[in-house]
Amino acid sequence: MPTTVKAYAATSATDPLTPTTIERRDVGPRDVRIDIRYAGICHSDIHTARGEWGATRYPIVVGHEIAGVVAEVGSEVTRFAVGDRVGVGCMVDSCGECRFCRRGDEQYCVEGNIQTYGGVGKDGVPTQGGYSQAIVVTEDFVLRIPDGLELDVAAPLLCAGITLYSPLRHWGAEPGTRVAVVGLGGLGHMGVQLASAMGAEVTVLSQSLKKQEEGLRLGAGAYFATSDPDTFRRLAASFDLVLNTVSASIDVDAYLSLLDVDGTMVLVGAPEHPQSVRAFSLIPRRVSFAGSTIGGIRETQEMLDFCAEHGIAAQVETIGVEQVNEAYERVLASDVRYRFVIDTATLA
Ligand code: NAP
Ligand code: ZN
Repeated sequence: MPTTVKAYAATSATDPLTPTTIERRDVGPRDVRIDIRYAGICHSDIHTARGEWGATRYPIVVGHEIAGVVAEVGSEVTRFAVGDRVGVGCMVDSCGECRFCRRGDEQYCVEGNIQTYGGVGKDGVPTQGGYSQAIVVTEDFVLRIPDGLELDVAAPLLCAGITLYSPLRHWGAEPGTRVAVVGLGGLGHMGVQLASAMGAEVTVLSQSLKKQEEGLRLGAGAYFATSDPDTFRRLAASFDLVLNTVSASIDVDAYLSLLDVDGTMVLVGAPEHPQSVRAFSLIPRRVSFAGSTIGGIRETQEMLDFCAEHGIAAQVETIGVEQVNEAYERVLASDVRYRFVIDTATLA
């Protein structure tokens, strides 16, 4: 018998999220049932709830930064036991057979990974996310949260953390790499900490200097306001890697001008509208304009272990689920330091 759990759902692009119930499937032989304790609020939840990325199937329960405790395991589960502290990120399954899945890049599965919400599970049922009391996931997509990382500050690592960790590793951030993080929000504040722990020279590019002190404390060596046109003149051609986390459309050419020869700007922010790029922003310094999405399961575990080892976690503001609509407005106003996390006990 599927289990009914309480949740918070978006029912249209314009209505506030409201309480609901959803069904979670029976625990199959390879499944893990997780009692969710905390669910981070990612800007992607807002894009999806508001239908900004194309047709959203309503009602939808969003949330893909999930931390909790194992409540039940299937008969063939080997890696987890009841009581383990675990997490689930943006994916809950993939084909498991393509070359990307086989090498641990499930996020680039040729059939498309099955997203934690807004996807369709292998059982044919639409997936529903973390703003809920429990979730059932195949053990292959469950992460272990290391001791020493509290569940509330670990939850945002499952999306914000891995989304910055993966490109930092892929593009080889290390001592001497000049990294700029654009936008000091949920993703950005993880990027600053991770890049700094990898030894890179980190600069924050924020709309204003309001968060400068905290940005420097998180590990940045420099901090500039993008509202000051002088910033772009001063920093021209001075970075190897620009990680762009901005959720809104930006002047892409202006940010490309910050790259040195052979530098790369990686877009992880996913704004609603297309953005244009001038050929001559790329050609004269052989710069690359790239994208990246989350990271594979193995890499996500590596990131969690890296965070525990380096004392890195999200800086969170914990809220009750009834505050979620207000929290969305504050995220949109860049008024969050630096991730809202829902205490799912408030769903009871
Ligand atoms: P967030 O907490 O809202 O952070 C975004 C930051 O961008 C804000 O804090 C703000 O930083 C800056 N910003 C916002 N509006 C801006 C504007 N109009 N102009 C310039 N800067 C602006 O959001 P998030 O959760 O970090 O997510 C950021 C984006 O990444 C979203 O689009 C999300 O969907 C996407 N995302 C992608 C992936 C992936 O796999 N690629 C994963 C997760 C999220 P300052 O206040 O410092 O300027
Ligand atoms: Zn996310």
